[in-house]
Amino acid sequence: MNVLIVGANGTTGNILVEKLGKSREHKAVAMVRKEEQKAKMEQLGADEIVIADLEKDIEHAVKGMDAVIFAAGAGSKTGPDKTYAVDQEGAKQLVNQAEKHGVKRFVMLSSIGAGNPVATSDQNMKVYLEAKGSADEYLQKSSLSYVIVRPGPLSNDAENGQIEAKEKIEDMKDRSIPRADVANVLIESLTNEHVTNKTFEILSGERHIEEALESM
Ligand code: NAP
Repeated sequence: MNVLIVGANGTTGNILVEKLGKSREHKAVAMVRKEEQKAKMEQLGADEIVIADLEKDIEHAVKGMDAVIFAAGAGSKTGPDKTYAVDQEGAKQLVNQAEKHGVKRFVMLSSIGAGNPVATSDQNMKVYLEAKGSADEYLQKSSLSYVIVRPGPLSNDAENGQIEAKEKIEDMKDRSIPRADVANVLIESLTNEHVTNKTFEILSGERHIEEALESM
């Protein structure tokens, strides 16, 4: 499949480019915002690179794609306006374009707590969770075949391949998940039929990724 990686220049995005670039099954199409980010994508092994910005028109990037992975985000250093523009409206634009161009699979990197902003008193986090929840809901109501993956806190630890995946994970205390394992879950979600049209949370755990997804 031609897989568009949206947010390819991000920390998780880099890992996705590297892993998909090595895959025989898929072609890694890295979407970045700036010309000067192209060299890094080439080094990571991207099969193709496209320049596009979620705050502008992205139709040219989505055309010809079989699947998309949304791994972009405005980040915690920007204000609510960017969170709204990128995490919410940018993701919704990607859903619209994916529908228009017959994309067969949409994999969303969301977040634990998305759509449940009452769970936090931090105002920025509230806005972020609302934006992620709104984008998730928009995708769920679309005609696309989708998977919404909601990880807890991300780390840069080495991958261990073992996760817990559940609709709602109750015990989150002191837990996290390496970005590399999140990337593996996103890639597995491109083709694993057990998670089609499912929304679930993930953290490091005790089951192999494939087995954990098959139990969903
Ligand atoms: P990251 O390193 O912050 O990367 C985000 C990427 O999004 C960057 O490459 C950035 O591009 C890109 N981006 C920002 N605005 C854009 C726009 N208008 N158009 C296109 N691309 C744009 O992300 P990460 O730490 O790997 O996390 C990935 C996602 O996981 C987050 O966004 C968040 O939603 C989710 N998540 C995070 C956590 C956590 O603990 N951090 C937990 C759960 C879920 P530039 O490189 O050009 O700036």
